[in-house]
Amino acid sequence: MNSITINKSMEMKREYDIIVCGGGVAGAAAAVTAASKGQSVLLIEKSNILGGLATLGLINLFVPMCNGRGKQIIFGLCDKWARLSAEYGYDTIPKEWKNGEPKEPTEIRYVQRYSPYIFALQLTEEITASGAELLFDCIACDPVMEGNVCKGVITESKSGTEYYGCRMLIDVTGDCDVLRRGGVPTVAGKNFYTYIAKLITLETCAKAVEKNDISCAFGSVTGGNINLFGDNQPADIPCWSGLTAEEVTDYLVTNQHAMLENLKKTDRKSREIAQFPLMPQLRTTCRIAGDYSLKIEDAYKHFDDSIGAINDFEHRDHLFEVPLRTITRKDYPNMLTAGRSASGIGYGWDLLRVIPVSVITGQAAAEASILAIKDGVGVSDVNIKKLQAQLEADNIMIHFPDEYIPEDRTVIIHGKNAAEIPGGHM
Ligand SMILES: Cc1cc2nc3c(=O)[nH]c(=O)nc-3n(C[C@H](O)[C@H](O)[C@H](O)COP(=O)(O)OP(=O)(O)OC[C@H]3O[C@@H](n4cnc5c(N)ncnc54)[C@H](O)[C@@H]3O)c2cc1C
Repeated sequence: MNSITINKSMEMKREYDIIVCGGGVAGAAAAVTAASKGQSVLLIEKSNILGGLATLGLINLFVPMCNGRGKQIIFGLCDKWARLSAEYGYDTIPKEWKNGEPKEPTEIRYVQRYSPYIFALQLTEEITASGAELLFDCIACDPVMEGNVCKGVITESKSGTEYYGCRMLIDVTGDCDVLRRGGVPTVAGKNFYTYIAKLITLETCAKAVEKNDISCAFGSVTGGNINLFGDNQPADIPCWSGLTAEEVTDYLVTNQHAMLENLKKTDRKSREIAQFPLMPQLRTTCRIAGDYSLKIEDAYKHFDDSIGAINDFEHRDHLFEVPLRTITRKDYPNMLTAGRSASGIGYGWDLLRVIPVSVITGQAAAEASILAIKDGVGVSDVNIKKLQAQLEADNIMIHFPDEYIPEDRTVIIHGKNAAEIPGGHM
């Protein structure tokens, strides 16, 4: 299972230090970080723009990057990109956060809703500037394995079937597609009935003109409209894992029928779909069965191998640290993941998969890969102090300050006391 036989006549097209499979925000962050440090990097993206769910999938919101008391937790490339997206697209950063962390405590959270397509163009600019090579419209298929060591990846594109070699492979396809095919243990998730497109109406357009703000022109139309906690998931609609062609198709067909039914109820002359999700809006398809899985009980815990402090995007105060082990497997020395396929359980997975945290783990996957190559060790065995020093130099907060921990450490998730949620599952 975990060794792919390649056609003997297939020659390696080129060898890279690092191959990044998938150009979502995690992949873009990994590729920019590694290439700007002088590594040879190939970024393989199956669609035609960068950003994944954050652009193609129309999920255009950097969720809160602070603790809800005026303290910023998420910095690094995420902070840079959130601000960059506000420079040329919509700027919805609250005024309290316009110039960085506010001087006074505030409950207003640091968020940014951006133009998805302009942000995608900016990501392409970032990749080009970093020196990473990019292949659009190219699918990363099977990894080439020698035992548990990855020698490269087979791709399918206009050029046909090709083989690219690498020293490290980062699978950020969002679904762990490449790791899974290489035999790396993974865990499937479940996905609720959710599908949203952006709608313009005569009313929203008039509002945009009145406010002189084009972002007001967009409303939404849904197929399924179920939130991340699965509230009110209809009993007769299944949850999808999204891991087979049939399931993905069923998810899309069910939701597209529902979206059309919703549109039929509106006046055809007064509205139009302006932006359509060009990838399935599935939250948690598949994650690595990592050396560690983040869970709600880890709130306020420091980890020796933290690669970044993060805040809970839904609830104030809750702070976590992401262990390197959530993106690695000790038995696979040169393959790792980042983004929404990092290892978390229940709400712990939700904490890891959002855009700001995906950017952090993407950066960390790149820095860990660089160190593994340099020191000739497996990625789980890198010198953690050296890695943390590098991430700090990249402006990532490794450990949250203890003074940010509230007196009352009770963790309430979606109205439930986390201590009473069995296994941390919602
Ligand atoms: C309904 C919904 C609402 C959400 N709301 C928010 C929100 O408001 N704010 C927030 O911060 N987060 C939100 N999220 C989460 C967030 O959007 C994603 O989890 C995050 O963007 C994941 O980034 P990623 O790079 O890990 O993966 P993805 O965005 O999934 O990127 C994976 C990329 O890999 C490419 N790819 C896949 N397979 C291959 C292959 N074999 N070869 C080459 N390329 C491949 C894809 O085309 C894609 O570009 C939401 C998610 C959903 C589904």
